[in-house]
Amino acid sequence: MIAEIIINSNVKNLDRIFDYEIPTELNVKVGSRVFVPFGNMKTLEEGIVINIKDKTEYKVKSISALQEEQINDEYIELSKWMSNRYFCNLSDCLNLMLPPGRKTKNIQNRITDKKVNQISIAKDYEIIEQDIEAGIIKGKKQIDVLEFLMRNDNSSMQDIELFTDATSNTVNSLVSKGYLSKNEVKVERNPFIHKVEVRSVDLKLNDEQQNAIDRIKSSGEYLLYGITGSGKTEIYLQLIERMLKQNKSSIMLVPEISLTPQTVDRFISRFGSENIAVMHSKLSIGERYDAWNRIKNGEAKIIIGARSALFAPVTNLGVIIIDEEHDESYSSEMTPRYNAIEVAEKLTEMLEIPLVLGSATPDMKEFYRAKNGEIQLLTLTKRANESNLPNVEIVDMRESLASGNRSMISQKLKDEILKNLKKKKQTILFLNRRGFSTFVMCTDCGNTIKCKRCNITLTYHKKENKLKCHYCGYEQKVTAECPECKSRSMKYFGAGTQRLEDEVKKIFPNASTIRMDIDTVSKKNSHEYILNKFKNENIDILIGTQMVVKGHHFPKVTLVGVISADTNLNIGDFRASEKTFQTLTQVAGRAGREKDEGRVIIQTYNPENYAIEYSKTQDYNLFYDTEINIRKELKYPPFCDIIMIDMSAKNERELIEIAKRLHIYLKNRVINEKFGLLLYSPVPSPIDKIKDRYRMRIIIKCKYAERINELVNSMLNEFYNMKAKTGRVAIMLNPHNML
Ligand code: ADP
Ligand code: ZN
Ligand code: ZN
Repeated sequence: MIAEIIINSNVKNLDRIFDYEIPTELNVKVGSRVFVPFGNMKTLEEGIVINIKDKTEYKVKSISALQEEQINDEYIELSKWMSNRYFCNLSDCLNLMLPPGRKTKNIQNRITDKKVNQISIAKDYEIIEQDIEAGIIKGKKQIDVLEFLMRNDNSSMQDIELFTDATSNTVNSLVSKGYLSKNEVKVERNPFIHKVEVRSVDLKLNDEQQNAIDRIKSSGEYLLYGITGSGKTEIYLQLIERMLKQNKSSIMLVPEISLTPQTVDRFISRFGSENIAVMHSKLSIGERYDAWNRIKNGEAKIIIGARSALFAPVTNLGVIIIDEEHDESYSSEMTPRYNAIEVAEKLTEMLEIPLVLGSATPDMKEFYRAKNGEIQLLTLTKRANESNLPNVEIVDMRESLASGNRSMISQKLKDEILKNLKKKKQTILFLNRRGFSTFVMCTDCGNTIKCKRCNITLTYHKKENKLKCHYCGYEQKVTAECPECKSRSMKYFGAGTQRLEDEVKKIFPNASTIRMDIDTVSKKNSHEYILNKFKNENIDILIGTQMVVKGHHFPKVTLVGVISADTNLNIGDFRASEKTFQTLTQVAGRAGREKDEGRVIIQTYNPENYAIEYSKTQDYNLFYDTEINIRKELKYPPFCDIIMIDMSAKNERELIEIAKRLHIYLKNRVINEKFGLLLYSPVPSPIDKIKDRYRMRIIIKCKYAERINELVNSMLNEFYNMKAKTGRVAIMLNPHNML
């Protein structure tokens, strides 16, 4: 018999099928992981069998060895579909389905709960990469360990020995050279082992919940649209229960950021930790490997994880649930650049099982599809525990500024914080200073400067002192004068959470504060640590970015202050309003989730912007109706698809040459073959240099179709034929993040 094999490599030339003879003694199946001799390479290459057939027209070599892991047929199918749709190698997709790390030895006695040496990277990744390239670090084992740790920082010595060929000598030598550091830590191999389990039972569903869950049949796609606190999670829990009773598995995706044990606790207390596997990037490689195996051997039937949990080796899958389906973490920015919602749609279609998408603020595309009857809409309009939605007040910061208040915190918000401090209630202050985006705004009229062609906020580029459109390349000089009201109050904005914390401490010297943003949660579990500390130690004020917004339930939080609702309005993205509305609704949903009434203060320079105005009543429908018309008018998704061709190179000239050539290639074909699409000229990317690589992009607006896929793929071939020295091209279909 002959096996068709995909070599596990991200080299484009190897992205094709190779035939190999199957030795009779090996039980090779479709999906098997094998090792094969390849070309004139000395070592064996890893490959995946994607098909088995009787004969081949070529003279072929034999498979050398078989690994135990195997990918299910459906996932081979899924990989093929993904590699086509997301313009990447088949092996890039197949790789997602393989166990984390590559086991090179048999599992010996795995440590469970004792002190071990944890090894971490001690230098900049770039310096290490340079040193490897320059031959300063020699020896395959040393390089192996460094590369392994750059992917899996903070691994135990045991895990390093398990997943690489290195020994403790290799590690010690790297420690003495200063590349690695060693710390003794207590490792809990089971991340939930310390949890006291209080079992919870099914709540009696209210009519809306009951109606929603009754409508979820054994297949089909459902959008569960329910306001914050309406009891969506309870529905997920009972759906999973339904599956367990039929001996079926469930996959539940949640945004990476809310994958804290706090979220997972609800599932553990209902089903017990023995039934649950958690998969996300914060786990150590060993923990991920364990989770993978517990799923593979059927021990864990409930998989909770970030987007990659879709590819867990489940058997008998009964449902996929995606919570906060609008979240941008479902869109992968690394190869393969897939969208987890789309992949879940494909997978559930293939398996004929239901897909449930849940959100209080659905993605425009999904709600549009639901309205058009393409998917089923399930609605929850009331809070499940009878608490009321919080009372939202919008503070016009232009007035605040005019009255002489230069603080980031308005008088109104100060008063409310003070009230909360007196009543010993907790407050969350939210400031979304994620990313670099600095914007220019008139503080007299709230006007931000927008592209005339795209209705998108222009981004300030400091280096050239210009304002640029990230879509069509339009640019203009920075103006000292507001084009709307002619005042000379144009200001640059860019204050972050750190400055906010300082200010809070100055104004309320006796209040206790805790800050949560990328800078404070980098260590494993510090996310949970901060949230627990806030909750258990009764800290007065939690200050944070996006990560305080999602999913958390703090009974004592009765006040939420949004420092600047405008940050997301100015990100230079067609999703700006959508993201603003989503964030405001989510953050407001943190206030007053129990008996005490919640108050929300939203500070803005754009009180009449519809995304901000409608968040006052948290009326998604109203927002949707306005936004969908704008999308239609300007031809943005869901009325078209956007293909973003990102090009980069170390050399600016080389990059320009690549961009020109690819654009000409596309343009000629688009004209000659009458493609109905909009092809934009190459423009520098919003962040036009990252890590010494210059970046440009070409945007295509189209209705995605096979024909367009072929066009883009042949453009990729054109690129590979150029044999660019340092150039790279990455393609993203409907990116969530346009930076
Ligand atoms: P969501 O996921 O929509 O934000 P949750 O499922 O977290 O909502 O529910 C919010 C609160 O309401 C939780 O404290 C939950 O225990 C409670 N709850 C949910 N469903 C019910 C119900 N049927 N009866 C009573 N309380 C409920
Ligand atoms: Zn103005
Ligand atoms: Zn433009």
